[in-house]
Amino acid sequence: MTAYPTLRAAGATDIGRVRAVNEDSFTMLPSVAIVADGMGGHACGDVASGLAVQTFETFFAQGPIRPTDVVDAVLEANATIVAEAERHPDKAGMGTTITGIALVDLDGTPMWLVVNVGDSRVYRLSPAGLTQVTKDHSEVAELISIGAITAEEARTHPLRNVITQSLGTTPPPRADTTMLPVAPDDLFLLCSDGLTGELTDPEILDIARRTLGSGGSLDNLARRLVDAAVAAGGRDNVTVVLVTAPPGLATETSTASTGEDETPTGAARA
Ligand code: CA
Repeated sequence: MTAYPTLRAAGATDIGRVRAVNEDSFTMLPSVAIVADGMGGHACGDVASGLAVQTFETFFAQGPIRPTDVVDAVLEANATIVAEAERHPDKAGMGTTITGIALVDLDGTPMWLVVNVGDSRVYRLSPAGLTQVTKDHSEVAELISIGAITAEEARTHPLRNVITQSLGTTPPPRADTTMLPVAPDDLFLLCSDGLTGELTDPEILDIARRTLGSGGSLDNLARRLVDAAVAAGGRDNVTVVLVTAPPGLATETSTASTGEDETPTGAARA
């Protein structure tokens, strides 16, 4: 195969105004970008999220990649974090979310593959608006799904930081995956909950429209979103990664989705 198209990406992160350590990690590779939001008893969340990023960097140094590779990498990252915590008892209980998007090769056709464990998110930005692609693995998401609370109430709910799936667990978490066709002008937003805890979806969309509408770059937009979340309170680490396909890479394949998740394996705080 000749040179495989690589995704275009821009990322920004900030420790915020309250936390002593930035436990978020992110990476942007030729075929995949991820955001990981770490957590741990003794400030080891940065170790866990860093191990997740390192695993992906080892797995995906170059494209193309197959859809199954992404879930394999998630499971490998989980095993690496579990093993590290077993070797170092002071790191017991560390874990991380992971959310990402990959440009995968499905029998010769490029497709987007979105993967998620935890409450970091992938959104799709289009002229029609902002759509959350991932489903949060969190207590409040489950309360919303049964109608016990509203999305607005979830923003201030005492359990809003409790996630039901994370890396660093035995048995391993179940990663949700969603496959999407590559459409012209696709733009995906990956973020840790430090962004969505401070900004509503309409606020995120407004910043995106104003920045891109005035000719701003992806780097400009990533930075503006992070800065806006910090300005709004910055109570958590904030990370944003923006991803688009290279020009001219569009497919017409219909959307397929897999990876229903209704089996929490444990609770943790992110
Ligand atoms: Ca967080």
